[in-house]
Amino acid sequence: MFNVYEFFNKISSLNPRIRLDAGQPDIKVDERIIEEAVSSLKRGETGYTKTLGLDELREKIAEVEGVEKENVIVGNGSKILIASQILRAKRIGIISPHWQAYESIARAFGKEVKIFKTSLEEGWEPKIKRLNVDLLILNYPNNPTGKILPREKLKEILEIAEEGNVKVLADEIYSDITFKPFTPVRELYDNVVTIKGFSKLFSMTGFRLGYAIGQREDIKAMQKFLEVTTTCVPIFIQRAGVKALEIREGVKKRVVKIYEERVKLASRILKGFEFYEPDGAFYLFVKTGIDGLSFAEKLLEKGVSVFPGIAFGDYRDFIRISLVSSKLEEGLKIIKEVKLCASE
Ligand code: PLP
Repeated sequence: MFNVYEFFNKISSLNPRIRLDAGQPDIKVDERIIEEAVSSLKRGETGYTKTLGLDELREKIAEVEGVEKENVIVGNGSKILIASQILRAKRIGIISPHWQAYESIARAFGKEVKIFKTSLEEGWEPKIKRLNVDLLILNYPNNPTGKILPREKLKEILEIAEEGNVKVLADEIYSDITFKPFTPVRELYDNVVTIKGFSKLFSMTGFRLGYAIGQREDIKAMQKFLEVTTTCVPIFIQRAGVKALEIREGVKKRVVKIYEERVKLASRILKGFEFYEPDGAFYLFVKTGIDGLSFAEKLLEKGVSVFPGIAFGDYRDFIRISLVSSKLEEGLKIIKEVKLCASE
């Protein structure tokens, strides 16, 4: 498996001028969120707390998501909650292209991994006939393609999941950054754990704050996992989370507009390239026609960083562009130039 962390470290050591590689938003964390964390620390909220999460935060999440507090658990980033679910299953189904962590977590835990490949030509829609897995990971809006499955297609997959008694892990971390209608899996399916977090919409990557929504037994299992690993999310981080959800509507309006404009800009500049125009999230998964890793390395020489397609599965002639820089326009023009030179 391509080591995306190694590549990330290489990029970081070269310190390119325009970074379009990781899913690290450049939009600043709202000052009110930071103030809340600082004032919590100053109040002395520096100790351990309940593993499930602060009642105030779980209540606020429940209100925003339209669920009960008992069906919510808070975690140290969404990744650890995803890991706790993967740990419980034997055979993991992953729709590709995919966020590499699903596969590396599953392999690190010695799980059987089944990859369902999709293609740009088929609009990144999976064609699944039968599911012989215990856990199916669905990630829409998708990283790296930006695809949202049409409701009918989602229903079709969930019917197959139901037939096979398959649990679904719905990683909906990008569901607040959408440009088209989106149906959460839990509207259509009961046997699901939904994963969300604060890293993307609120740019709070380094806060390490995420949450899961699920049935009580799933919440209990995740609680157990956190008890034996991270213990709890620091209180001041959770206070920041409460504040973020309080100001969510305003942040959402502003942030979605920024990403939507960036998607339009990228689609305009990269006209002629082959890619699916994203329905959500902030990535473009672009077919380069040549080896994506060589393309990414050529770009690095010109001071622009992207990830190669192989960081997301068997997609050698793709790159992922993360639309997370105020120098995006310049970066995209360099990408276009490199492509033109490569195809001459
Ligand atoms: N899920 C997906 C699909 C992601 O792309 C990412 C981060 O890039 C995460 C989860 C991780 O989020 P967190 O920072 O909450 O662990």
